[in-house]
Amino acid sequence: MKKNCTGKLLLFIVVLFLTSTHLFGADKISALIIDGQNNHDWKLTTPYLQAILECSGVFTVEVLTSPPSGEDLSAFKPDFERFGVVVMNYNGDPWPALTMAAFEKYVKNGGGLAIYHAADNSFPEWEAYNRMIGLGGWGERDEKDGPYLRWKDGKVVTDDSPGKAGSHGKRHEFIVDNRKPDHPILKGTNPRWKHTLDELYDSLRGPAENITLLATAYSDPETGGTGKHEPILFTVDYGKGRVFHTVLGHDDVSCSGVGFMTTFARGTEWAATGEVTIPVPPDFPGDQDAASRNPLAEK
Ligand code: ZN
Repeated sequence: MKKNCTGKLLLFIVVLFLTSTHLFGADKISALIIDGQNNHDWKLTTPYLQAILECSGVFTVEVLTSPPSGEDLSAFKPDFERFGVVVMNYNGDPWPALTMAAFEKYVKNGGGLAIYHAADNSFPEWEAYNRMIGLGGWGERDEKDGPYLRWKDGKVVTDDSPGKAGSHGKRHEFIVDNRKPDHPILKGTNPRWKHTLDELYDSLRGPAENITLLATAYSDPETGGTGKHEPILFTVDYGKGRVFHTVLGHDDVSCSGVGFMTTFARGTEWAATGEVTIPVPPDFPGDQDAASRNPLAEK
């Protein structure tokens, strides 16, 4: 269905039409959002993710909702190959073996994947999924699943010390530091930007292979954090597939942050194509005040 995105995004879309190859929507990227099970309110957040992608002007979006937790998933067989990118808003029961195999094949052969917030809690036992997400949390993940990965003294460091994976302190607004400012997803954004009220995930661990760390945030012990610079945005190469992973976006408030919206849309585009055409909006935040807009109001 054609969406009429209005408001502030109109200007960006005009710019987009003038600068991209997506003129007339003839070659929009087809995105599939998967939800249906999550310890988070996926019914609340999926419409935000959908609106953010559609209002960027470069995506068409379908949503596939799995059966509820505990019910039979044997008929859950998304046709991954139809899509340029799959967005995971799912943290739930294991998928059927054939669906897992089809998903592995899809990403390995070059399919795009965007991992959003608690999707990195999902599938602790699925080895290939954990390689795709690079780092995960909760689900009894610990040192058996791989190292912690953080930013220290100007570089990426891993830490094999024993301990649980996945935690966050009190929800708060925090500064995100770009660590790879020339990456297409971040190019043109501010090097330090204030994010809206959200959980700051910490102590994620996993295979941590083929990761490009894009951005971190200081996890302040004063808000219950680790005192370390924790991964916030990163990419993972999995076979020919590109994975974009954002730990941001706990709820509707966090999904309304301009920093979240911009990096989520651009990261999802990069996962699909390896390039970014979505412009950085003029209200992208700096390090003083978090900027916020309701993407649902812009549809
Ligand atoms: Zn959360």
